[in-house]
Amino acid sequence: MKFARLGAFEAEKPAVMVSETEAVFVDHLIKDWNRQELENGAIAKVQAADLNALPKVKVSDYRIGSPVARPTKIVCIGLNYAKHAKESGMAVAPEPVVFMKAADTCVGGFDDLVIPPNSEKTDYEVELAIIIGKTALYLNSPEDSKNYIAAYSISQDVSERHWQIERSGQWVKGKSFPTFNPIGPVAVTSDSFNPHDVRLWCTVDGEKRQDSRTSDLVFGIDHIVWYLSQFMELKAGDIINSGTPEGVGMGFNPPKYLTAGSVVETGIEGIGSITSKTVAFKR
Ligand code: MG
Repeated sequence: MKFARLGAFEAEKPAVMVSETEAVFVDHLIKDWNRQELENGAIAKVQAADLNALPKVKVSDYRIGSPVARPTKIVCIGLNYAKHAKESGMAVAPEPVVFMKAADTCVGGFDDLVIPPNSEKTDYEVELAIIIGKTALYLNSPEDSKNYIAAYSISQDVSERHWQIERSGQWVKGKSFPTFNPIGPVAVTSDSFNPHDVRLWCTVDGEKRQDSRTSDLVFGIDHIVWYLSQFMELKAGDIINSGTPEGVGMGFNPPKYLTAGSVVETGIEGIGSITSKTVAFKR
């Protein structure tokens, strides 16, 4: 099942895709695709319902929101593709590199991406997003992880390299600007998506920049969820960005960063694609 949230920002209604271009609203079954409803079995409840009886709507008639409402956290894995670590001038770490970004960076997959004031190093990162389905804490083994993953989606882990790397301290500074985590267009439930070898790619103004496969991940999806659960409580609706492959703007010589007016298309096989237009910050 592919689910989505359609409507104006913070007024989205939960929906399920019934074809490539059509959806049905399921707000009579669940309040939203959010933490509480996912904890209460929203996916099973909606899957058990007769969706064919519901009126279809054209998705193109609506704004597409983030497929989950306001996660409690976005946790990110850094340097999780060997060639990306190399282009970043950093070594692959013996254990996953973990950082966080502000949860309210999460926006819809077609919303504008706002370049921060004076930023010359805003960069793109396609990532497979893991959406947690129920509280995961101290899992016994990576094999347990699949029981805690609700769905997968496409994250654009936007990064401002000056604040991320050239200032002192943690990466969170370069990752938490407003709109810096477009996600969508849908979430594909884990019972109908195999995350272990899918293509992921990113183009900027039509030029292919990233094109890789999740089979190149250093630490795989199940390892990541198990590992994070050893030191934090993952909640339903939380988003984990699993890492980006090579081809980010920082990796080119000279670098190819985003400027206002750039169009960033971010895609993953089996999920779809999202498109973010970059705009300059305005007070
Ligand atoms: Mg990243």
